[in-house]
Amino acid sequence: MSVLRFDLHTHSTASDGSLAPGELVQRASACGIEVLALTDHDQTAGLAEAASAAAAVGIQFVPGIELSVSWAHQTVHIVGLGIDPACASLQAGIERLTAFRHWRAEEIDRRLAKKGIHGALSGARNYARGAILSRTHFAHYLVAQGHAKDLRQVFKRFLVRNKPGYVAGEWASLEEALGWIGEAGGLAVIAHPARYKISATRLRQLLGEFRELGGVGLEVVSGSHSRDDIMSMANLSRRFELAASAGSDYHGPDNPYLDLGRLPSLPEECQPVWNHPAWRATHSPG
Ligand code: AMP
Ligand code: MN
Ligand code: MN
Ligand code: MN
Repeated sequence: MSVLRFDLHTHSTASDGSLAPGELVQRASACGIEVLALTDHDQTAGLAEAASAAAAVGIQFVPGIELSVSWAHQTVHIVGLGIDPACASLQAGIERLTAFRHWRAEEIDRRLAKKGIHGALSGARNYARGAILSRTHFAHYLVAQGHAKDLRQVFKRFLVRNKPGYVAGEWASLEEALGWIGEAGGLAVIAHPARYKISATRLRQLLGEFRELGGVGLEVVSGSHSRDDIMSMANLSRRFELAASAGSDYHGPDNPYLDLGRLPSLPEECQPVWNHPAWRATHSPG
């Protein structure tokens, strides 16, 4: 099976990944990636370091972001590719989401304390390397404290809906997220569409609204998609005339997600996002 040389969805220590941006780029290059996007959650702080590391190792770098969005009482992730991190409205959005994350972290801490787990906020902060505080940082702390055996289990027990450490999000609206990405000159892509716990009807509604608001892509190939997921998302991308993207959602060697350089190719009928007319104009040469 041929593997893709593109990876358009990855994380660094600027959000909840465990490799620094430069280390991520080096590992991607060693794993055979030729075009890499760094897409940290609600954050662009890692892009400059990643861009210079990419120039040094000779791979093409796409500055990106993964924005947290609330849509129909669900959290949905929108990847922006080829963004200019200097964009003022994007940075104002990032500030708002970062502030919400800090409030939410305090709330998670209070709720866990009620269950007898103390010190979770300072514990999580010890795992955070940048401005973003994520559930992943709480997860690392809870595992280290022996509350679960690994990240997967700790999410299931504590950090998902209806569990003690879950706090519902008031993230960006879909319209705001697409506005920020557009103003920053980027292309918007719906991340890991098969992972949302919504009905097929709801998902089609999301794709329709996304397309109407100027969204261009759907992550058909994702580190968290099965073969069947890839096929059904490929069908949806054609039906909604969305370009197909591919990204591992890599978070580092200590995370259960797929490693770099292992993504299968896009199904043949897909229109790759890197062939989209707006693509060339929106990625920096590194
Ligand atoms: P947040 O954006 O802070 O709510 O955290 C969401 C992040 O938690 C995702 O981007 C994943 O990196 C991580 N995550 C969510 N569910 C799981 C899981 N079951 N196992 C491992 N990591 C997860
Ligand atoms: Mn993450
Ligand atoms: Mn995501
Ligand atoms: Mn991600």
